[in-house]
Amino acid sequence: MSQRCCRFCQREFPASRFHPEQTACSAKPCQQLRRTQNRNRKLAVDAEYRQICRDSARKWRANHPGYWKQYRAAKPDAVERNRVQQRQRDMRQRLADLANNNSALDLKSSAAGVWLLGPATSDLANNNLASLQVFILQNPWRRPPLPLASCQQQLSGLPASLA
Ligand SMILES: [Zn+2]
Repeated sequence: MSQRCCRFCQREFPASRFHPEQTACSAKPCQQLRRTQNRNRKLAVDAEYRQICRDSARKWRANHPGYWKQYRAAKPDAVERNRVQQRQRDMRQRLADLANNNSALDLKSSAAGVWLLGPATSDLANNNLASLQVFILQNPWRRPPLPLASCQQQLSGLPASLA
């Protein structure tokens, strides 16, 4: 029996003679990755499948009212992690929109430099805009202002000579 290299874990596995096209080994994490990729691929190309999945999720939510509210109350860490990840997705989308924006492309011929700063710049490492040194300065999101009480607390903590 010939050996193949798993496309996920890069380990060799015995090729099945019943599935000659097999590219993932039988390890659970690799099979989960394979299924996730297949599902995402099908979601991207099959509108009917997308609609079925959407309806199924809608039906489940209708049958389990309050589930997500309880989940968020019970797992604040997951809520915060999701919030951060959503901000990153939003930022990537804004950058993609920006990269496809005609007015941004017009800046290529401009002598003015536009600087892109912030955590999203790593996403643009292979982007044409970066190689042309066209940068866009933007503030990804605002931090909430410090509450007044905390300022007062800091003041009271200062030495008398500084207060
Ligand atoms: Zn594997």
